[in-house]
Amino acid sequence: MSPHTLNLVERGRNGRTIVDEYKYLLSERDLPKSWYNVVPDLPQPMSPPLHPGTGQPAGPADLEAIFPRALIEQEASSAPRIPIPDPVLDMLRLWRPTPLHRARRLEKALGTPAKIFYKNESVSPAGSHKLNTSIAQAYYNKEQGIKRLATETGAGQWGSALSFACQVFGLECFVYMVKCSYFQKPHRRTLMECWGANCIPSPSDRTIAGRKILAEDPDCPGSLGIAISEAVEDAALRKDTNYALGSVLNHVLLHQTVIGQEALAQLKLAGAFPDVVIGCCGGGSNFAGIAFPFVPLKAGGKQIRLVAVEPAACPTMTKGVYAYDFGDKSGMTPLLKMDTLGHDFIPPGIHAGGLRYHGMAPLVSLLHRAGVVEAVSYTQLKCFEAAVQFARSEGIVVAPETSHAVCCAIDEARNAKEEGKERTILFNLSGHGHFDMAAYEKYFAGELTDYEYPAEKVQEALAHLPRT
Ligand SMILES: *Cc1c(COP(=O)(O)O)cnc(C)c1O
Repeated sequence: MSPHTLNLVERGRNGRTIVDEYKYLLSERDLPKSWYNVVPDLPQPMSPPLHPGTGQPAGPADLEAIFPRALIEQEASSAPRIPIPDPVLDMLRLWRPTPLHRARRLEKALGTPAKIFYKNESVSPAGSHKLNTSIAQAYYNKEQGIKRLATETGAGQWGSALSFACQVFGLECFVYMVKCSYFQKPHRRTLMECWGANCIPSPSDRTIAGRKILAEDPDCPGSLGIAISEAVEDAALRKDTNYALGSVLNHVLLHQTVIGQEALAQLKLAGAFPDVVIGCCGGGSNFAGIAFPFVPLKAGGKQIRLVAVEPAACPTMTKGVYAYDFGDKSGMTPLLKMDTLGHDFIPPGIHAGGLRYHGMAPLVSLLHRAGVVEAVSYTQLKCFEAAVQFARSEGIVVAPETSHAVCCAIDEARNAKEEGKERTILFNLSGHGHFDMAAYEKYFAGELTDYEYPAEKVQEALAHLPRT
């Protein structure tokens, strides 16, 4: 062996000597058989969702117009683990377990002593983690005899993931897509159509909520809050139709915990344990998916930081307040206690990536306010720079959302180098960016600018928070 090779030899699984593995793989048999529920491990109890009309705690009956009973139960469950039904497991096996990669080429490019691992959720058919929950949600709706699901989508990933899941379980799928994204990313709509779904731009004239907004502002670029109002209205008014949400709610975060459970097993194969776990945060689901299974280990005394990364243009955790707010623009959803920028928030059009929701998952918000989760924000130019560096060393062109996690991982690795410290970094590669080339094109053309959501605007929006 040359001295060069010797440097790369490490002690691996079963004490065997292995040479610099790039990927740690599990077999289909190793797929987690249950979801991990963080609720019993929370440092303080959750504040209940409130009915938007009465302000009283919302009961299961309030949600039955739009969600199936099994998901309503999961939403309120404090069971430590919830078994994954066999038909869901069978579908997850189509692409899971996903690989855990060691970013050796990136480490080398950075000259860092840090070890960087990433969980690659981009290998799902829809190209992101969102299929982990869309499959489960479509399954439970089908079981309850529902024929059609209505939903919203921002950048298009959730709409795509739900389209495929509905196709799998024989449900119709109707997607309200935020108007500016609909025109920025026409291929997303085509992808949804490939999987048999209908997709229209929001605000639309199909719903009362949409017509009202169009009457006030015919050129409204749309927002997730508006599209949610349209989809919830669609579902509430039709008996055969339910609503499905791709993030934020407890049951969605629950379904994503297969990510962190697999990662723990794969890190064991690699003989490593992370000092820091990183995920980008829109509504909080992929971050929760990778980070929540580490919460009990942290509570048990492991030194580990859980870092949620958000865009400076939509700084829900770093600039928002922790308060009860609506989940949508028109105030139709239950009030959730969460980090929020106010339900009137309309993200600036210049922001290329997703991650544009005004609120943060109540579970992530609670852990953030309790100091278990740290939040940081980055502006977009720095994120694209990191994404391009990642693509040039690791090959994968990540989604603009994911670039926030990449950027934070690179920062952590650079800090480790400056401090001359070893550090093991784990981040969630939530999805690839193959449908986001327009954003990369703008970045290369120098057309993207940085934008930080001004604190005054936050104050303005907060004046409209519902009183509880
Ligand atoms: C939807 C999405 C996100 C943001 O949503 P979370 O619920 O915060 O995970 C991040 N990355 C990708 C690839 C997405 O599709």
